[in-house]
Amino acid sequence: MRLVPFLIVSALSLALPVPAPAAGSATPRGVPAENIDRAAPPCGDFDAYANGQWRATHPMPDIQTRWAIRSVTEDATRARLRSIAEEDAAKASTQPKGSPAQLVGDFYAACIDEKRVDSLGLKPLEPTLHEIDSIRELPALAAEMTRLEGVGISAPVNLTAMQNLHDTTQMIAGVGINGLGLPDRDYYLRDEPRFKDVREKYRAYIHQMLMAAGSSDGEATQAVTAVLAIETALARARLSRVELRDPKAIDHPMSFAELQALAPHFDWAAAFRTLGVPTTGRLNVGQPKLVQAFDGLLVATPLGDWRAYLRWRLLDSSAEYLSSAFDRLHFGFHDAALNGAKEQRPRWQRCVIATDRKIGEALGHEYVDRYLPPEAKARARTMAQTIVDELKLSIQSRDWMSAATKAKALDKVNALNIKVGYPDKWKDYAGVQVDRATHLEDVWSASRFAVRDALGQIGKPIDRGRWAMTPPTMNAYYSPEMNEIVVPAGYLQPPGFDAAGLDAINYGAVGVSIGHEISHGVDDEGAQFAADGRLENWWTDADYKAFQARTACTTNQYDGYFVEPGLHLQGKLVTGEALGDLGGVNLAYRAYHRSRGSKGPEPTVDGFTPDQQFFLAEAHWRGSLVRPEALRTAVATDPHPPGHFRVIGPLSNMPEFQKAFSCKEGDAMVRAEAERCSVW
Ligand SMILES: [Zn+2]
Repeated sequence: MRLVPFLIVSALSLALPVPAPAAGSATPRGVPAENIDRAAPPCGDFDAYANGQWRATHPMPDIQTRWAIRSVTEDATRARLRSIAEEDAAKASTQPKGSPAQLVGDFYAACIDEKRVDSLGLKPLEPTLHEIDSIRELPALAAEMTRLEGVGISAPVNLTAMQNLHDTTQMIAGVGINGLGLPDRDYYLRDEPRFKDVREKYRAYIHQMLMAAGSSDGEATQAVTAVLAIETALARARLSRVELRDPKAIDHPMSFAELQALAPHFDWAAAFRTLGVPTTGRLNVGQPKLVQAFDGLLVATPLGDWRAYLRWRLLDSSAEYLSSAFDRLHFGFHDAALNGAKEQRPRWQRCVIATDRKIGEALGHEYVDRYLPPEAKARARTMAQTIVDELKLSIQSRDWMSAATKAKALDKVNALNIKVGYPDKWKDYAGVQVDRATHLEDVWSASRFAVRDALGQIGKPIDRGRWAMTPPTMNAYYSPEMNEIVVPAGYLQPPGFDAAGLDAINYGAVGVSIGHEISHGVDDEGAQFAADGRLENWWTDADYKAFQARTACTTNQYDGYFVEPGLHLQGKLVTGEALGDLGGVNLAYRAYHRSRGSKGPEPTVDGFTPDQQFFLAEAHWRGSLVRPEALRTAVATDPHPPGHFRVIGPLSNMPEFQKAFSCKEGDAMVRAEAERCSVW
């Protein structure tokens, strides 16, 4: 994935699925061949071929909304995190206040104590609900919006810290408006049944939640209308997801005085003061029209409607940390209706997820000490360097780029920073108060810290040591402003990485992902940022046109992929990720071959050649099943193509794949030569 500029934004007890080393043999392992459906033709649907037998023997559990080989590893990682949290809980009382073990142990213990959480009911929210009820004038409304933002609830005002895209040594404030309960503006504005249906469910969800919180039926009905009116007006003023992918469209630097003039009815000075943000220097308003629309709503909407909206934002954002009555309603909409989950995750999993989300570096620190072998980190770093070198060779050999643009592109790749495993310097959670009295208070204390920690960067030079993902996360990212790729420890496990595996399968899995992240530096968005992260065009006009013709090929390819009759991917939304996938597989494939150098080819294992192993590993790593509800949500909002298309999309463009499996022209996995896409 990539970080979006301005918005730093995706009853199991399992043994880790690490196969035992082959006894008495020095031959490295290939992919688990038992996953493959040998009856399916590999040149028809390669995802079905590579993953078919695994899917036939591993039906999707009710708690899952996406299901892949890697999901099993993710569940196993959660089980490991649970054992850390439980051990910490057992010894927390003897640990220094504020130490990682005390924080993790008490946070988890407060969360897992469902009886206590249930007995508290709505009590943890009562003081805030009371504040909201007593709002009688605009300044009090603005102050409450600011207080909510202070615990990470955008209602709808949102302040972030971001790099100054015109002087990337400095951090500045990013001012935005969020606060929509539905996944995107289309859900409010469009009349296709898939949006209308969710909208109706959302209305019912708000109504039920407000009733659970003590509203009468009539009050709840009125509040639903008020909430929908405010959110729909905000949705109408928003840019679409596709528009938001253009970094220039959301680059609006201004002074604090200009912000005040843009939206004069909100007390920005008080908000900045309360949240500790300096009003000197530049700031960026990503969507000025939206901020203006919010300002208009402030005066045009009755205060009673705003109170209903704040009450709703508070409930929806806190429900997961309240008693089961609220938590279940939250699940019923966000997980079941929007994503198709049939059953809630067991409480211990939800508590592990909450601990990782709120104090993730305290938990992650303990995780890597136990579970990240230093040699995995070293090998991944070497692999990453080999793939970066491959991108340089690729740039040098492109016949559609001029020497001038190549030199700039190489500067950018040379400046790329690679982070693997975990941060060099861990976050110090000083000031976070965690005890076992009230789960929600712990969550808010951690949220207050996160807001302070983020906004505290504003006006200071950039700290390049920070991580936007926690170490156990099975994911990775590229940040265009930092020009860095970050590969957390959680990624370095099967099916991504197998220390006893063939190089072919490691390059085919985590290598492909590293290639993907590196390619983001030169995808349709990344290409607009210079080596130091400045938003600057470093291409000649002719070269940029040639590049855009190539990205258009990918947009067209993905526009043609349907997830159900009448619903296809938004090519323009997924172009960046699809380019990353295409570049990633190509770079990793070539880097793999170059890395063999004088070592000679790897052996054929289980009847599969090294090239076949490489592509099978890619399919095992990327392929996934997704519930229809989650697919619809993803098509509307996710810049990543669904897993199935991350297998067939890039591979059907590759002659190397077709050769490895002897595919013929006319096979589904062979795109006609005239339609074949290639960039790096
Ligand atoms: Zn990506």
